[in-house]
Amino acid sequence: MPVPQAPKIMDETTRKELAAWLEFYQELGIEGFFRRDSSTAAPLPGLAAAKPASPEIVTQKTAASRSTAPASGALAARPPAASSAPSAASAAAHPSQQAIRPPAPTFNLFEAAPAPRSGPETLEQIREDLGDCQRCKLAPTRKTIVFGEGNPRAELMFIGEGPGADEDEQGLPFVGRAGKLLNRMMETVGLKRADVYICNVVKCRPPGNRTPEKDEVDACSPFLYRQIESVKPRLICCLGAPAVRTVLGIKEGITKIRGRFYDFAGTKALATVHPAYVLRNPREEKILREDFEKIREYLKAAPPSQDL
Ligand code: SF4
Repeated sequence: MPVPQAPKIMDETTRKELAAWLEFYQELGIEGFFRRDSSTAAPLPGLAAAKPASPEIVTQKTAASRSTAPASGALAARPPAASSAPSAASAAAHPSQQAIRPPAPTFNLFEAAPAPRSGPETLEQIREDLGDCQRCKLAPTRKTIVFGEGNPRAELMFIGEGPGADEDEQGLPFVGRAGKLLNRMMETVGLKRADVYICNVVKCRPPGNRTPEKDEVDACSPFLYRQIESVKPRLICCLGAPAVRTVLGIKEGITKIRGRFYDFAGTKALATVHPAYVLRNPREEKILREDFEKIREYLKAAPPSQDL
């Protein structure tokens, strides 16, 4: 017959730490804490270092707090409000350091963190959301929506202005003469088209290859921003003034600001001329070459961890 063990006395540090966690979870609307015999508890996968020497805690989330669960990120940076905040090790394993999702109705704090409901949006999801888009006046005249093409985890993302006739026919970006020049420029700096991601500010061809108008850019650019967020490139290369204006908000002439690096939400972005401009002004090919050299230097010099 098993000999009953004397209850363990909680030390002061653990007691304060536990109090901080309880206060934090109560602020989140989690209630109904009770002790459970640790001898019957399952092992704590991956949380051994984070497990405090304290009784098991099981929580039950109220229906009200579930229905008013805050959006992801709003609480992620909010630590438990106590001077005896949990250690770095325990914080690293704590769900508050991850995106907070509406949790399952019941979970054990120290046995299993609530699994994230979903990861970053994929390009497929964004394309699906775009659907047979009729959001702007370019829809009736297009043949094909040219969403984008390339490596969904590319380090380098090219953003052009909008599809031309060839792209409209084939449904792929930069496949006409300008696209061939772009491919050649990439080759000169050792890049393969399959390694990069290419898309445009607007996904439908403006009639006569005119510059996209503001209302068209406004309607389409949210999809571009979502593509950037999904790919998370180390470097964005804006090809031509409309891309520079949309992504960087810079209205100066492209020939004045080209070759410079800017910041787009923590990602470096280089402004350069559109290959179509070089086709019209062949003597300007040297400036595109110069800027592609900068791309090569940047990708070679900066390790990925410095940019993220
Ligand atoms: S340009 Fe963009 S917003 Fe306009 S119809 Fe095409 S996909 Fe939709």
